[in-house]
Amino acid sequence: MSKLSEFELIESYFRDLNQSRSDVLLRQGDDCAVVKTTPGTHIAVTTDTMVSGVHFDEKVPPRALGHKLVAVNLSDLAAMGAEPAWLSLAITLPEVDQEWLKEFAAGMHELAGYYHCELIGGDTTRGPLTLTLTAHGLLPEGQRLTRHNARPGDWIFVSGNLGDAAAALAGQQGELSLSSFVQHKLNERLFYPTPRIALGQALRGIATSCIDISDGLAADLSHILTRSKVGARIFLHQLPYSEALKSLTVEQQRHYALHGGDDYELCFTVPEEMRGSLETSLAHSSVKLACIGQIDRSSGLRFFDHDKEVASSNTGYQHFNS
Ligand SMILES: [Mg+2]
Repeated sequence: MSKLSEFELIESYFRDLNQSRSDVLLRQGDDCAVVKTTPGTHIAVTTDTMVSGVHFDEKVPPRALGHKLVAVNLSDLAAMGAEPAWLSLAITLPEVDQEWLKEFAAGMHELAGYYHCELIGGDTTRGPLTLTLTAHGLLPEGQRLTRHNARPGDWIFVSGNLGDAAAALAGQQGELSLSSFVQHKLNERLFYPTPRIALGQALRGIATSCIDISDGLAADLSHILTRSKVGARIFLHQLPYSEALKSLTVEQQRHYALHGGDDYELCFTVPEEMRGSLETSLAHSSVKLACIGQIDRSSGLRFFDHDKEVASSNTGYQHFNS
C-alpha cells in the first residue's frame, strides 16, 4: 500500500469525529485548522499522551483506549470548568490494523460526540504505538477553576467513588486476588472513566479550587495545598467507595482511594457560605458528591478516622494501624 493511501485510510476512520461545529472554519486541506473565538471567551488547552507498555498494555481493548484518551483530556478541561470544543490527535502506529483502528475511533467518537467535541486536526506516523490528544475547551472570562485559591475553613469534596481503577489494575497484575465479578466491575472504571464535565461547569463561581484525580487523592489534593499554601484534614471514614471496592478490606479501600490513580473524579474546595449554592447548582445532577475533609492553616495532609488522628503526610501515611 502506498504511504499516501495508507494515511488516507487511517484518516477515514476518524471522519465520524467531525461534528460540524459552526465555530470550526477550516478542517482539512490547509496547513492548520482554523476555529472562531467569541469575545469574552477564553480557551483552555491540555494534552495527554498514552504510550503502549507505559500507560497501557495489550489487555486494554482498543475501544477502551479511544474512550480513555478522550476522557483523560476532557477530565482536565472539567477540572478547569471548561466546555469541551476541539480535539487534535497525533497517532503513531506500528502497523495499520483496520479492526483496531475501527474500535479505537469508535471509542473516541462515543465520548467526544456526546460532548459535541470535534476532531479538527492531527498527524499520523509509523512507530511504537503512541496516542497523543490535545483538547481545547471554552471558558467564560474570569470563570476558570484553578488550584491556588483554597482557603482555611473550605470544605473538601470529591465526586463519584475512589480507588476502583487502581484496584482493577492491581487485580490484573496479580497483586490483589479478586473474584471475576469484582474484577469486571472495577475494570469498567479503569477502562471507561467518566470525565466530570457538567460538574466542572456547575462549580464555576462556587469552588475556590479544583483538580481532577489522576494520580490518587493524596497526591492530587497535595497540589491544591501547595499552590494554595494551606493544609488539610481528611476524614478517612467519609471516603466514597463503590460496592465492588467494598469487597476489599478497609485498609485496602483506603490505600487505593488515597494512593491509586486513574479515578478522573474531581476534588474541589467550597467555602461554608457557598454550600447552599453547591446544592442548588447540582439539584438536577446525578453525580454523587462526598465531603471528605476541610482545609486548615497547617501544611500537608492529616488523616482522621472519626475524631482520632491516625496519620499525616509528614509522618508517612502508607499504613493505618489504628
Ligand atoms: Mg489533571
